[in-house]
Amino acid sequence: MEFPKINLHIHSIFSDGKNSIKQIIKKSLKLGLNYIAITDHFTNSWKANVIPTLDTVEKIEFYLKEISKCQNYLRENNKNLNLFKGIEIDIESSETFIKKLIQPEKFDIILFEYLETPEGISFIKELIDFWKKTIEEDDFPILGLAHFDPSFFIHESLDTLIHFLVDYDIYFEFNSWYPDYYSRQNELFFKKLKGSGYSIPVAIGCDSHSSRRLADIEEPLELIEFYCLEDNLKQFLNLLQNK
Ligand SMILES: [Zn+2]
Repeated sequence: MEFPKINLHIHSIFSDGKNSIKQIIKKSLKLGLNYIAITDHFTNSWKANVIPTLDTVEKIEFYLKEISKCQNYLRENNKNLNLFKGIEIDIESSETFIKKLIQPEKFDIILFEYLETPEGISFIKELIDFWKKTIEEDDFPILGLAHFDPSFFIHESLDTLIHFLVDYDIYFEFNSWYPDYYSRQNELFFKKLKGSGYSIPVAIGCDSHSSRRLADIEEPLELIEFYCLEDNLKQFLNLLQNK
């Protein structure tokens, strides 16, 4: 089947991307993309010393406002491009920093990066439980794993990981920057995404840091087809259309 063109992992000059949000929109329209999300970095780990990041309330507000402006422009001009507000949270950041600065209801999509251990799972679970205490379910963003490498879990904690994704409604991103994560050695993980009695949504993100790479979605799509996860992608698109 023909899927809409989606890239839900894009960086702008608000973190380490090369282009402004406006430039990203312009290029996405040219490339015929249908769904995009700006997902700039949020971190106070070692990474904060290396790249610019959304590390103050003011920066985050300004960032969200810029995206809102572009959303209005697209709507008013009847463009066939849906733009979403995202953010990529480094889970090596401190818990207090995340809890203090992130208001999840302000975003459509939250990506977590660097999930590599069962402790990482506990960290994310605790955050989500904390957020769920204060936010209505309808206002909750879609949650996903950014460039997640299944090989960290494939040998020992695969079931813990799968239960976590199912219980906490987390989607899996095929990221065009990291094709080796999706090799046959992790086949069991991809089989489990199809599930039995459950199914885990999958999406596509290019980790675009420059507008030249905005439409690198062919390889992720091929992988989704290779692992027969088309229904999981449809499931994700339904979630997105309700946003
Ligand atoms: Zn990223």
